[in-house]
Amino acid sequence: MDNNNANADVSIHPLTDNPTAAWKEISKHQKLLKLNVKIPTKPVENNKVRFVCMSDTHSLIRNITYDIPDGDVFIHCGDFTKCGQKDEVFQFNEWLGTLPHKHKIVIAGNHELSFDQKFKNIFKKNFDKREKRHSTSGIEEVKHYGNTNDDIVEAVNTPNISQYLTNCTYLEDSGIELYGIKIYGTPWQPEFGNWAFNLERGEECLSKWNAIPNDVDILITHTPPLGHGDLVCSGIRAGCVELLTTVQQRVKPKYHVFGHIHEGYGVTSDGKIIYINASTCDINYVPRNLPVVFDVPLKEGF
Ligand code: 5GP
Ligand code: MN
Ligand code: MN
Ligand code: MN
Repeated sequence: MDNNNANADVSIHPLTDNPTAAWKEISKHQKLLKLNVKIPTKPVENNKVRFVCMSDTHSLIRNITYDIPDGDVFIHCGDFTKCGQKDEVFQFNEWLGTLPHKHKIVIAGNHELSFDQKFKNIFKKNFDKREKRHSTSGIEEVKHYGNTNDDIVEAVNTPNISQYLTNCTYLEDSGIELYGIKIYGTPWQPEFGNWAFNLERGEECLSKWNAIPNDVDILITHTPPLGHGDLVCSGIRAGCVELLTTVQQRVKPKYHVFGHIHEGYGVTSDGKIIYINASTCDINYVPRNLPVVFDVPLKEGF
C-alpha cells in the first residue's frame, strides 16, 4: 500500500467534542442517503468480489438464527467478545473456521480488552494499587455489565491474545490487499466508558486516522464516522468528526464499514462513499441484524 499520506491536512473541527452539534453544522452542506440493501439471492458474478460484513457479535454467535451468506471476503468490525477473554476469542476463531469465505478479516473493538496493551497496562497498575490498599470492594473503575471482575482480570492477564485468531487476518492499524482491492483496519474510537482502544476526540483520534493510506478502497473501523450509523437511541450522535473528514476529504474509500453503535445498523451514503454499520447485535445485545453484503467490480488484470 502506498503510504503517501504525508499531505494529510485534516483539521480538528471546532465542535469535535460535541458531535451532535458538529453534525448540525456539517449536515447542512452534504447529502445523506439511506440505502435499502438486501442480501443477494444470486451468486456473485465472475468479474466481482463479494464482501460479507458483520460486527458486534459479542460472543452470541450461537444465538444467530440465520445462515451466514457465502462470499469471497468476510469482514468483522470488532466487538466479537464481551470482554476479550481467551475462551471467547478461541470460540470466535473456531466459528470463523466453519465459515466458507476464502478470506476473513477481523478488527478488534472496545470490548476486546485483552487486545489493547495500553488498556491492560493501566488496568493492571490500578488493580495492583487497590490490592496494596487491601481493597475488598472489587474493581470500581471498570463496570462492564455482563462481565464479572474475574472475567476482566483474566482477560487483561492473557498475553499474545491475537495468536488465537488463526482463522482470519487480524488487522490493527494495518492493511491487506485482496484481488487488487486495498483494505485497511483500525480498532480505535472516541472514548466512552472505561474500555479498550479509547482515545480522546480531536488530536488523539486524528493521529490514528492519519495513518490510513490514501489509496484504501475499503476502510474498516470499529467506530462510525460522524453522521453515518452513529445515532444513539438517546438522540445524540457518537461518531467521530475527524474520521468523517479523513474519509471524505483525504482517503475517499469506496466503502467504510464499521459497527459499535448497535442501533445505527444500516447502510447510508453521502453520494460518493457507502457507509455500512454492520452491527449484528441490536441495542439489547440480541444478534438479530443480518450481515451486509456488497459486490465490488474487479480491477483490470484481476
Ligand atoms: P458497546 O458497549 O458494544 O461498545 O456499545 C453498545 C452501545 O453503547 C451502543 O449501541 C450505544 O448505545 C452505546 N454507546 C457506545 N459508544 C457510545 C458513545 O460514544 N456515546 C454514547 N452516547 N453511547 C455509546
Ligand atoms: Mn458492541
Ligand atoms: Mn483514496
Ligand atoms: Mn463497541
